[in-house]
Amino acid sequence: MSALDWKNTVLLDGKAVAAHRRARLASEVLEFRAKSGRAPGLAVILVGDNPASHIYVKNKIKACEEAGIASFHIPLAATVTQEELHKEIEKLNTRNDVDGILVQLPLPKGLNETAALETIAPHKDPDGLTSGNLGLLLAGRKRVAPCTPFGVMKILEHFQIALEGKKAVVVGRSNIVGKPMSLLLQEANATVTMAHSRTKDLASVTREAEIVVVAAGQPRFLGREAFGKGSVVVDVGIHRVPASETLLIGGKKSSICGDVRYEELLGHVQAITPVPGGVGPMTIQMLLENTLTLSKLGASL
Ligand code: NDP
Repeated sequence: MSALDWKNTVLLDGKAVAAHRRARLASEVLEFRAKSGRAPGLAVILVGDNPASHIYVKNKIKACEEAGIASFHIPLAATVTQEELHKEIEKLNTRNDVDGILVQLPLPKGLNETAALETIAPHKDPDGLTSGNLGLLLAGRKRVAPCTPFGVMKILEHFQIALEGKKAVVVGRSNIVGKPMSLLLQEANATVTMAHSRTKDLASVTREAEIVVVAAGQPRFLGREAFGKGSVVVDVGIHRVPASETLLIGGKKSSICGDVRYEELLGHVQAITPVPGGVGPMTIQMLLENTLTLSKLGASL
């Protein structure tokens, strides 16, 4: 990064980083199979028929196949009770061929997501979202970190963006993204500020940061006014724009946008993750990597 002129904003291409890591993962999976005599296994529970969730699950299963990870698709009717769902998870908790269990969110109305996630044994939680795994992360003894913020860290690492001593701001404080993101940045010795919907004058807070991770779930809500010249911007947001509002971003048409007004930041910030093709592709990759980590821990390899 230091060799590049900051006037040329660097695109932090998460799709390329994920492809690079996928090749390495496939060889590590082969090594695991050779040593343990079995493939790492990921079970994906899909409750109901949310079309977007179906696509996400299909993509996860395809990614598993490509990496040599065995996948077990467990479709459950939208009418499943909380108790029945927990029983399915408990069965998977005891299966020797399952190293990771994923409950695709959102669950249909009436089902308690937190209770379902907490039923997953922490040593089989590749999303890193059980309180057991979040607690280990907080205590500085992480088993696996939640996939999206972990993927952000790997993008920053790939592009050799130094974090030590840097001022970082995380916009958003969800358990899935914002909170674990701030912990991971602190672990890398950044000085971290967390911003959220009650933060006053958000732009004045983010403008001071050298690294800004935006995970607010607000389409295109921050532009040039919110970022210092030469800062590094990671845009976690993903939003589908109505066909009538298709955007022209960096000369390309897109019906997907992030939380920042990307085109305003080109030539202003040092580096930025595009949407699509930034953080998104890394999330599935980290799910696979976390599954392998849990497989190795389970097999004491
Ligand atoms: P949540 O809705 O759970 O959390 C949003 C956070 O942003 C909250 O902490 C909220 O503050 C804060 N926030 C909301 N509005 C503002 C505002 N105007 N100013 C400052 N802070 C604000 O979202 P998630 O964390 O689950 O996801 C965030 C985004 O990331 C979404 O767009 C989501 O689609 C995307 N995402 C992308 C993934 C990927 O793979 N790329 C994976 C996961 C999420 P408060 O706590 O005060 O309400």
